[in-house]
Amino acid sequence: MRKKVNILGIPFDSITMEETVDCIFDFFKGDSCKSVYTPNPEMVMTATKDPDFAQVLQEGDLVIPDGIGIIIASRLRKNPLPERVAGYDTVQNLFQKMKDTSYTVYFLGAAPGVVEKAAKRMKHQYPGLKIIGSHHGYFQEKEEIAILNDIQEKSPDLLLVGLGFPRQEKWIAKYKNDLPVKVCIGVGGSFDGMSGKVKRAPVFFQQIGLEWFYRFLHQPSRWRRMLQLPKFLWYVLRDTYIK
Ligand code: UDP
Repeated sequence: MRKKVNILGIPFDSITMEETVDCIFDFFKGDSCKSVYTPNPEMVMTATKDPDFAQVLQEGDLVIPDGIGIIIASRLRKNPLPERVAGYDTVQNLFQKMKDTSYTVYFLGAAPGVVEKAAKRMKHQYPGLKIIGSHHGYFQEKEEIAILNDIQEKSPDLLLVGLGFPRQEKWIAKYKNDLPVKVCIGVGGSFDGMSGKVKRAPVFFQQIGLEWFYRFLHQPSRWRRMLQLPKFLWYVLRDTYIK
């Protein structure tokens, strides 16, 4: 049983990047579909106000800390998580390992055109990677059946779902048991990054824990979302020392 660290009601797995990739490869060999979620502070804050979302995250088979804010919170709670395990990096590490195997992947999410470009760039970056299908994330409810049928038919080992939170996690929880898939991961805006539409922060910013600041500089429209970070840390302090 893996150690869990509870941050405002969300149980994070105390796990390194390397262990995460190994764990997902173990999931590939299993006989049921496993869910992998990558909450950041904004998502945890949303979960404090949305009990359905909180429950979905609590029932995740693997819950990894995307964002330095979660690591800081675990330290404040004197139960430090070993390292940041960003969803984007996890997927890149999986691709690196999957490219030499027969495991397959399907991309669901992002704008029309972007997801296809992401698939094309990833095939180029990881020759041998088997991306067997993709669909954009701006579909109507009535189109969902056709998408589910496509996934059923292609039976990928890995389904990446990038519809934005909390929709992507709720979507995974709703359908995972009906799909012949081994692992579903909620990947947020990762397809935007893979397609080149959104640039990832330079490694330097990532290493000093300021990736969020780099994103803010490049997408200032996100400032309202970023205000969640100090609020999140205050809630964690309150939860740790006052309650
Ligand atoms: N998205 C989608 N369908 C929608 C709304 C959003 O596929 O109805 C996609 C959007 O194009 C983007 C991703 O969901 O690729 C959300 O990205 P964001 O950067 O907001 O997510 P984060 O990584 O912060 O969770």
